Amino acid sequence: MTVSTPGLVCAHHHLYSALARGMPAPPRTPGGFQEILELVWWRLDLALDLEAIEWSAKLGALEALERGTTAIIDHHESPNAIEGSLSVIAGACQEVGVRISCAYGVTDRHGPEGAAAGLAENDRFLGDGEREGYVGLHAAFTCSDDTIAAAAELARKHDVGVHVHVAEGDADTWQRLVDHSDDDWLIVHGVHLPDDHGLRGTLVHNPRSNMNNSVGYARPARFDLPIALGTDGIGADMLEEFRLAYAAARADDVTATPDRAWGWLQNGWDLMPTALDDRVFWAVESADPWHLAFTPGTSPLEVEVDGEVVWDGEPTLVDGDEIRAKATEAATKLHARLAALD
Ligand SMILES: [Zn+2]
Repeated sequence: MTVSTPGLVCAHHHLYSALARGMPAPPRTPGGFQEILELVWWRLDLALDLEAIEWSAKLGALEALERGTTAIIDHHESPNAIEGSLSVIAGACQEVGVRISCAYGVTDRHGPEGAAAGLAENDRFLGDGEREGYVGLHAAFTCSDDTIAAAAELARKHDVGVHVHVAEGDADTWQRLVDHSDDDWLIVHGVHLPDDHGLRGTLVHNPRSNMNNSVGYARPARFDLPIALGTDGIGADMLEEFRLAYAAARADDVTATPDRAWGWLQNGWDLMPTALDDRVFWAVESADPWHLAFTPGTSPLEVEVDGEVVWDGEPTLVDGDEIRAKATEAATKLHARLAALD
């Protein structure tokens, strides 16, 4: 039996992490979230060039379609290849047939020049008003007050929100975002936010990533904000993320239901409503959340984006084997650059 849903939305992704799999081990085992950033992700992003960004985005987009995800809200950082990076990601996703919203994660980790270049890339990308995106901020604890204010102002200029990591670890200084925040902001993680934080926006919950980084359970049901689901770069299998969101909620509260986690997945359509024009046909008996929560491995049979079949067991717009082969080549080069960093 076949049922259909609109295209699923991944409300927080890092497509550049598609090439991270198989990367060289960090110089030592990270002892906490801050060290996971310093020893893994802040090394990988230094090694990214536009070629690696292109093939990681194509591979990530292909893997999203394979799981019925037709819309991705991406958050990108590549300190040595900032200019043009968002256009490379958007072009790659468009080629594969996936809707994409881009943001460059501005940060002062590389000094005021790095922050200025990040702001300029957001401004350039959003400049023509035709491409979907946010102004990205890495996280408040890596940003000066001036950088936070500049990002908020740039977002207002382009009539978009700010897409920012918030209180993922316990060292984040989220308080400086409160007065700038607005209803169109994406507040990602919120694990260590108090209930009465005062931030405005949609909170994006990433259960698998939070488990993987051992940062704790966000208990998103406690917040008044709308909740959406993201993967934080670990693929774009949103039915799987929904199941995990349910299981994590249930581990914390035996009265939690699949309907609640399904509501979080549905909120992705408020963020990227065009995905409602897409259709995914699933080989399952029912699209009821109680059914799907206990049906692991559910796969789409066919994916249509805006009336066009883009996946029918394989991608129809691109050569999937070629993308995988080129992505493997790009990953090999990326990992070599990473190994040579110190
Ligand atoms: Zn993230």
